[in-house]
Amino acid sequence: MKLHEDPLARELLIAAYLQRRLDEEAAEAFESHYLGCDRCFEELEAAELLAAALRDRKLRRDQSADVLLLRFADPAELIFGSRELAELAGCLAEPRDSKVVLDLSRVSRIDSSGLGELMRLHAHLLRASGALKLVSPSAPVARLFRVTHIDSILDTYENENAALDSFALR
Ligand SMILES: [Zn+2]
Repeated sequence: MKLHEDPLARELLIAAYLQRRLDEEAAEAFESHYLGCDRCFEELEAAELLAAALRDRKLRRDQSADVLLLRFADPAELIFGSRELAELAGCLAEPRDSKVVLDLSRVSRIDSSGLGELMRLHAHLLRASGALKLVSPSAPVARLFRVTHIDSILDTYENENAALDSFALR
């Protein structure tokens, strides 16, 4: 296999292998190569890790008309260093997203980093003439919102429909 002479062909081959698009013979040939090739092996491992991370994203995105709905797939903690918080911080990949409904029902814990991220998101969406609406915070999270007076800044709703309706009223 003259894999390392053509970087693009190699990249395409690795992608095809990961997506199981190679025929049996080509797959076997590549397997016997990468098992003895550190460079290909490392690249394959990195690509697989990335694919796995994308597969089990914790923050799910849905769209309802022009509103972006964000829900956590599993119990989540919006605390310093958590993956959920990192995903929330990167949730506005699309600049056109200005109206966001964030479901907090599976969020068991928020710390100052999490609160800071919510405020940052809120300020960002306001500048884009949109808004952040929070939905069904758990009891401890709702209590934290009260004691920090964040509940006077961020709108919280009992369920998604109520949050969506509030956008329609504006
Ligand atoms: Zn190689």
